[in-house]
Amino acid sequence: MTSTISVNDNHSLKLSPLEVPHRLLLGPGPSNAHPAVLQAMNNTPIGHLDPAFLALMDEIQSLLRYVWQTENPHTIAVSGTGTAAMEATLANTVEPGDVVLIGVAGYFGNRLVDMAGRYGADVRIITKPWGQVFNLDEISTAVETHKPAILALVHAETSTGARQPLEEVGELCRKYGTLLLVDTVTSLGGVPIFLDEWGVDLAYSCSQKGLGCSPGASPFTMSPHAMEKLQKRETKVANWYLDMLLLGKYWGSDRIYHHTAPVNLYYGLREALRLVAEEGLANCWQRHQKNVEYLWESLEEIGLKMHVAKEFRLPTLTTVCIPEGVDGKAVARQLLLEHNIEVGGGLGELAGKVWRVGLMGFNSRPESVDKLVEALKEVLG
Ligand code: PLP
Repeated sequence: MTSTISVNDNHSLKLSPLEVPHRLLLGPGPSNAHPAVLQAMNNTPIGHLDPAFLALMDEIQSLLRYVWQTENPHTIAVSGTGTAAMEATLANTVEPGDVVLIGVAGYFGNRLVDMAGRYGADVRIITKPWGQVFNLDEISTAVETHKPAILALVHAETSTGARQPLEEVGELCRKYGTLLLVDTVTSLGGVPIFLDEWGVDLAYSCSQKGLGCSPGASPFTMSPHAMEKLQKRETKVANWYLDMLLLGKYWGSDRIYHHTAPVNLYYGLREALRLVAEEGLANCWQRHQKNVEYLWESLEEIGLKMHVAKEFRLPTLTTVCIPEGVDGKAVARQLLLEHNIEVGGGLGELAGKVWRVGLMGFNSRPESVDKLVEALKEVLG
C-alpha cells in the first residue's frame, strides 16, 4: 500500500549508541545501583503475569516487610518513583474534609501539604526551621489540638539531613484514632526503622537510595487500620493507577491484571532487597552509620561544618555548610565535571547555604568518602 503522506524526518536524530558518563553519585539520590542489581535488571523481561514473575513479586513483598520491620499484609512496590508511592498513601486514605496534620521542616513536608490539599484534605501544619526536628511534646500538643485523621511526618528530610525521631508517636496517634503516615524515602535500608514497633500505619519509600537500585519501583505499605479506612471510604479513590484496592488484586491472591509492571525494575528491586537480607538489616544500618561518621570526621578535618546537630543527623544524607565566600554551585559543578562526583545543592531555606552529600546503599563505603574528600581538597584549594 502506498501512502501519499511522506514521513517528516525533522526530529529523526542520527545517534550513536548510548554512552553514559561514570559518576559517583554522592548527592541526595539516586545513588549508584549495586553492580549485582544492574546485572539482575539485564535479564530478559518476562510477562507480568508469568508464574515466575508472580513468585518474584511475593519475594519482594516479604523482603519489604523485612526491611521495614512490619507484618503488614499490604506491602507492595508501586510502579513509579517515590513520589508515586507518596501520592498513593494520601490518595487511598484521605477523603474530602479529613483533617491531615503535617510536620513541615523541609521541602518534602511541603510536598505532602500540596498533595494532601489536592485530595481535599483540611490540611493543618506544624513547622520547624529546616534542619531541626519535632519533639514528642510538640507533636502531642498538635495532635490533641487538631485531632487529625492522619498525621504525616518525614522520617528522613532529604532537604535538611535531619532524622525525625518516631518512637512513641504511633502510641499517641492511637489515642486519637489518628493514622500515622511516614516518609521513609531517604531512610529505608540506611536508617533504623521499626514500623510496627513504632505504630506506623502508612509508609512509602524509593528504590534508588538506601536500597541501591535504580529509580522506579517504590515500596509502599499500609497497616490493617489504614486498610480499614480505605475499605470504609464513601468516595472512590481519585487516582485509578494508585488505588490499593485494585492494586491489591494484582499483588494479592487474585492476580488480576492491573498494569504492565516494569518487570526489569522489579528484578533490580528483588536483587537489591536480597543483598540487604544477605548483609543483614542491622549490619546494613551499622555500615551506613560507620561510614557517615567517617565522612563527618573527614570533612571536619578539612575545616567544614555540618548543618544539623549530631544527634539528629541522618546516616544517609549530610548537609554540609558552604563556607563564607565559596560559590557552592561552582564547587558542585567542578566536582561533577572534573572529578565525576555528584553532590547536591541546598533546597528552599537552605539554597546556597549547604551541599547535600549522600552515602546510601552501595555508595556507603569508605572509598566514597576518600574520593569525595580528596576532590573537595583540590577544588576548595
Ligand atoms: N520524599 C523524600 C524525603 C525524598 O527525598 C524524595 C526524593 O528524593 C521524595 C519523597 C520523592 O521521591 P522521588 O524523587 O523518587 O519521586
